[in-house]
Amino acid sequence: MTATAAPQHRFEISREQLATLLGDQPSYRVDQVWKGFYEQFRSVDELTNLSKGLRAELEEQLTDSLELVTASVSENGDTTKFLWRLHDGATIETVLMLYPDRATVCISTQAGCAMACQFCATGQAGFDRHLGVGEVVEQVIKAARVAAEGPTPRRISNIVFMGMGEPLANYDTTWATAQRLHADVGISARHLTISTVGIIPGIRRLAAEPLPVNLAVSLHAANDELRDELVPINKRYPLADLAEALHGYLAVKNRRLSFEWAMIDGVNDRDSDAAELAEYARSLRAHINLIPLNPTPGYPTVGSTMKRVREFRQLLEDFGANATIRQNRGTDIDAACGQLRNVYQRPKDRRIGERIPEATRVAVDLARKRSDSLPE
Ligand code: SAH
Repeated sequence: MTATAAPQHRFEISREQLATLLGDQPSYRVDQVWKGFYEQFRSVDELTNLSKGLRAELEEQLTDSLELVTASVSENGDTTKFLWRLHDGATIETVLMLYPDRATVCISTQAGCAMACQFCATGQAGFDRHLGVGEVVEQVIKAARVAAEGPTPRRISNIVFMGMGEPLANYDTTWATAQRLHADVGISARHLTISTVGIIPGIRRLAAEPLPVNLAVSLHAANDELRDELVPINKRYPLADLAEALHGYLAVKNRRLSFEWAMIDGVNDRDSDAAELAEYARSLRAHINLIPLNPTPGYPTVGSTMKRVREFRQLLEDFGANATIRQNRGTDIDAACGQLRNVYQRPKDRRIGERIPEATRVAVDLARKRSDSLPE
């Protein structure tokens, strides 16, 4: 093996870098290690087809980047939320959602977020830093392992870039992650969804990429006055410019666009909001996902009632747009963006630093017991 100067994150390095690292080993070793990581979700010490000595050497060179702080499981066991600590102490969240025949992982691309959307817990907490590709890919691998080893094993079929952070503000990491997940984990591009507040340069770059991933735009308001308030980046990338960029994306990608709309009582759930949204969505043939707002400590307004959500959906249909009501997953475990982290960062609840050695084991055990590991 060729020792490098400093250890690197296991999922950060490329296959070529792994080959260089393995140096004098036969080339099939590269394949064994790579598949062990990306397809079998193994840790270095579980690569039992390698000699003990080689495993020990690899272990020194390749480190994990995510340390589990806690995994909390929803009442019915179908949603697991992980809170990870990174090497510099920053914390991020990942959510695993199990469905009868498949599983979705919601991943973070930044620690914190600079977009400052009013109603979003991550936005309220501010920006720490960008994540590297190794830190994003590892979220999927660790969640995939939990899904594979849970009581009813599932394969990860879908990835949504809807965790913490703004994926298109960390474009290179986001795109490198999409490529890895596609090429090495084997997730089809059609099952990858990148969600954005509407960073126009990022949308343009995405349009030029070869993989046809899905694009979701967090709209929340379809007039500039309200959107400037709820989603402040709208001041830089207003709705008309956003529509133009989205038309460009549609023209080359031919994938269905979707709009996210968190329904906020009395703020964006009026009849006039439905009319504006329907018009905007129709012009882009976009599908609308209505999500009842998850309450956050930093935003006084509450979510629309379910009755109003249903009425709003009907209005959209009447205006000729397509909309689906999305159920909030894991509200009982603070699975809304940034919430679990906020709970853990309140000093009285601080558990960061409490080291849990085998992250995935713990999460699986938790999933089995369905124990509630969150503080009151
Ligand atoms: N920055 C990206 C991805 C992260 S947020 C984006 O904005 O799309 C993922 C989704 O959750 C976004 O649609 C966001 O607006 C929504 N969201 C954030 N806080 C929420 C809350 N309190 N209730 C409901 N949805 C929320």
